Amino acid sequence: MAVVVAKFGGSSLADAEQIIKMKSIVLADENRRYIVPSAPGKRHADDEKITDLFYELHKEPEKEGSGAYGKILERFSQIRDRLSLKTPIEKHIAEILVCLKAGASEDFAASRGEYLNGLLIADLLGFDFIDPADVIFFRADGVYDHARTVPVLAQELKKHERAVIPGFYGSLPDGTIKTFSRGGSDITGSIVACAADAALYENWTDVSGFLKADPRIVSNPKKIDTITYRELRELSYMGATVLHEDSIFPVLEDAIPICVKNTNDPDDPGTRIVPTLDAEVDTSFEKSITGIAGKKNFTVITIEKNGMNAEIGFGRRVLSCLETFGIPFEHIPSGIDSLCVVIADCRIDGCSTQLIDEIHRVCNPDSVEISNNMALIATVGRGMIRRVGISAKLFAALAQSGVNVRMIDQGSSEMNIIVGVENDDFEKAVRAIYDALV
Ligand code: ASP
Repeated sequence: MAVVVAKFGGSSLADAEQIIKMKSIVLADENRRYIVPSAPGKRHADDEKITDLFYELHKEPEKEGSGAYGKILERFSQIRDRLSLKTPIEKHIAEILVCLKAGASEDFAASRGEYLNGLLIADLLGFDFIDPADVIFFRADGVYDHARTVPVLAQELKKHERAVIPGFYGSLPDGTIKTFSRGGSDITGSIVACAADAALYENWTDVSGFLKADPRIVSNPKKIDTITYRELRELSYMGATVLHEDSIFPVLEDAIPICVKNTNDPDDPGTRIVPTLDAEVDTSFEKSITGIAGKKNFTVITIEKNGMNAEIGFGRRVLSCLETFGIPFEHIPSGIDSLCVVIADCRIDGCSTQLIDEIHRVCNPDSVEISNNMALIATVGRGMIRRVGISAKLFAALAQSGVNVRMIDQGSSEMNIIVGVENDDFEKAVRAIYDALV
């Protein structure tokens, strides 16, 4: 029997009604054998996520009469009662509070939303419960340990025909709880898919997949039907949300496809994320690029020196200055006598003057200039590879909208054109590119 791993996000499990939808989705396909739940998310725009309430409770566990404790208790007992389950949720929450009062970590607190939701969902579905603390491992430095996790988790899954494995956390070598970064249940789903050697990883959320552009900027953008791992990485890195950007790595080696689906509209095919696409059979990109994403607030440092191209080691010396300050860079477009380094503002805040001094000292340039307020826009698509005229259309559209292009970077993969524009031109530029290329 093929194995499908189904991960359900917080909005898909926000209350009993949503959880009932999840149950009918799971039961509709007997291959959906391993379920990875998030903690209950927001029921409406002004609501609070259970994970946030647990972070709050961790700060003041003594105040059990306080907001967070009462709200957590109320939400979980309401779900349990509406689903007519017997899970002793009050007892579990009381035990968590004892641990928090005894000094349990913030990660322990944050993970309890997934833990409790997992218990309830296992009870509802009649599936076994596997605690990720026993099967998902982090190294002592906090990095997820894939090599140690996969054999142990694979062995455990073999013992369970059907099971619920809560998302978002695992354990450190000393046995204490460690979480992934926010939204990390997506990563757990991917790890379980890898260990179960799944035929498909379904990621159920509250939208019918990825859109070609941010709907807050472009009205009614088209949906992406199929996207490759590489394209998804590029778009998620540049700000397209929906799936955690690290969810690809665990399924990469075994080339397991991911399908992003909508719990509120399960018949919609959603977006399929696949390892690669054969250009011969893939005609979906004929007329369009795959997607556009972007972020504001980047700084550009422009370093000029006559004869830079002939000076061996110049680039290395510039980058060593960044390393000294622990600053990662995004792009380094360069010319014969100049080199620019593009850095996210948040990475350089507070140390730009010292960094410039260091570049003067180490590289002895003719001039160094720093300017900020730049936005980066990535136009991504496997359909651009070896296709004539896409960038011409893109730049013509920007020119017609009166947008000045401050920087251009196209990787030799030809799959991604990055342009830098003024922060103020960002939305206008995204709309112009969308209208020209989609
Ligand atoms: N509950 C966690 C969060 O809110 C993890 C997740 O939902 O993926 O970030």
